[in-house]
Amino acid sequence: MALSGKIALVTGASRGIGRAISMRLAAMGAKVHVNYVAGAAAAEETVELIRGQGGVAEPCGFDVSDPAAVKDAVAGIIDADGRIDILVNNAGITRDGLMMKMKEEAWDAVLDTNLKGVFTCIREVMRPMMKARSGRIVNIGSVIGFTGNAGQVNYAAAKAGLVGLTRSVARELASRGITVNGVAPGYIDTDMTSGLPDGVKEAILAQIPMGGMGTAEDVAGAVAWLVGPDAGYVTGQFIHVNGGMYMG
Ligand code: NAP
Repeated sequence: MALSGKIALVTGASRGIGRAISMRLAAMGAKVHVNYVAGAAAAEETVELIRGQGGVAEPCGFDVSDPAAVKDAVAGIIDADGRIDILVNNAGITRDGLMMKMKEEAWDAVLDTNLKGVFTCIREVMRPMMKARSGRIVNIGSVIGFTGNAGQVNYAAAKAGLVGLTRSVARELASRGITVNGVAPGYIDTDMTSGLPDGVKEAILAQIPMGGMGTAEDVAGAVAWLVGPDAGYVTGQFIHVNGGMYMG
């Protein structure tokens, strides 16, 4: 198995895309630390699904937007397992609304989770990865970070910021054998999109050449490739998984 013996941390892995990524990495042989913030029961379900398929996983609750909690959690994993080989920054939230009406709290919450949380998680894992002179980091962006979207200035800014962050850290860590890449999903069937009004869903689907929504497994497949043996010379890149919705 391609990831046999590897230790992975996947943030926001209790459900949706993070769960699918965790299950895929575990199926490839990695031990997966399944992060969540509020959904302890859902995270436990992810862990059980992984164990049910013969994999190894542990739940790992912490808030990615709380730097002290991130530091403690990463230190705990390193204490227990000796290292982190793979970090997937997947945790994300939306607080949508037109800019005219957007409260600062909605801006701060999205930036703190979707962008600062990624900065903090990478900062905590980079030192041990640098020591090991190897590591794989994958940041889950969004098509919205490339196109922008009315009603999502906070989300689009955070996801666009993630592109600059990814490329900059990729440059900083390349000489240490660490790759840093991103995956930018389009319109994927998860809790994040299930609440959108039918009219909005139809408008999005009309912009997708492949005509339908993607699945969490479609995104997990791209992550699996980036952390696997075939992507060792790939860094600073974003893979778009969007059915042709945006062609970067
Ligand atoms: P989701 O179903 O809403 O799941 C979000 C996950 O993030 C949950 O596991 C949640 O944990 C976790 N989370 C939220 N805030 C957190 C925090 N502060 N600390 C730790 N974990 C936190 O979302 P999804 O659709 O799978 O999205 C996953 C990623 O893909 C996000 O970065 C999202 O922006 C991106 N994305 C999604 C789509 C899409 O169409 N679905 C498109 C483009 C990009 P709890 O269960 O504990 O709340």
